[in-house]
Amino acid sequence: MRIAIINRDRCQPRKCSKECEYFCPPVRTGDETIVFVDGKPQITENLCVGCGICVHKCPFGAITIINLPEEMEDPIHRYGQNGFALYGLPVPIEGRVTGLLGPNGIGKSTAVSILSGILRPNLGKAASWEEVFQRFSGSILGDYLKKVADKGIKTSYKPQYIDRIPKSYSGIVSGLLERTDERGALPELMESLGISKLMERDISSLSGGELQRVAIAAAAARDADFYFFDEISPYLDIYQR
Ligand code: SF4
Ligand code: SF4
Repeated sequence: MRIAIINRDRCQPRKCSKECEYFCPPVRTGDETIVFVDGKPQITENLCVGCGICVHKCPFGAITIINLPEEMEDPIHRYGQNGFALYGLPVPIEGRVTGLLGPNGIGKSTAVSILSGILRPNLGKAASWEEVFQRFSGSILGDYLKKVADKGIKTSYKPQYIDRIPKSYSGIVSGLLERTDERGALPELMESLGISKLMERDISSLSGGELQRVAIAAAAARDADFYFFDEISPYLDIYQR
């Protein structure tokens, strides 16, 4: 069993000689392992033999082939054919802090999006919540996901891409933070995150580091059962980190 991932941003069929298709051994023997749909390549995973030739031949490094043990179950989530697939999820436990560490593109944000209820896991197809519950029935993760789906637990989420905040919110910092301060924690958060002097500033005028700390305060001030902070260190200096 293998997973073929094509990075759609990197893949540029107009600037290459379609090396992926040209050098693919099964294609050379007549299989349709790689076909072009709407101008972009599509790899059929069960026809791929996992040789990795396309990975090395693609001039833009757009292809990743991952050979998996046969016994691996279906993914928890997959972003369509030849899209990224996630196979595991950590289990949040009340009163505990869980950290997810790993290189870019390993699925940390996808895991956080699922656990915070922003993204419904699709099990690699178009799965309903009922199918998700069935897959994880009898497990702590299953109980957790059911509560997320039924809104039985409240989550608070600090997004990874904080530079998008000024596009969805306009106004001064105090206006945003007072709106999210559901548990009266703002004075303490302003102090600990060093943002007291930013309160009258317009959100659009904040630097990356200031915006990051305001975003952390906004998420932490909510009254939630679980708090998710997707990437807290970008833009912050070593002391703030
Ligand atoms: S995957 Fe690489 S070789 Fe294949 S079409 Fe895209 S850029 Fe070209
Ligand atoms: S890994 Fe080998 S068989 Fe699979 S698509 Fe690439 S070139 Fe073809």
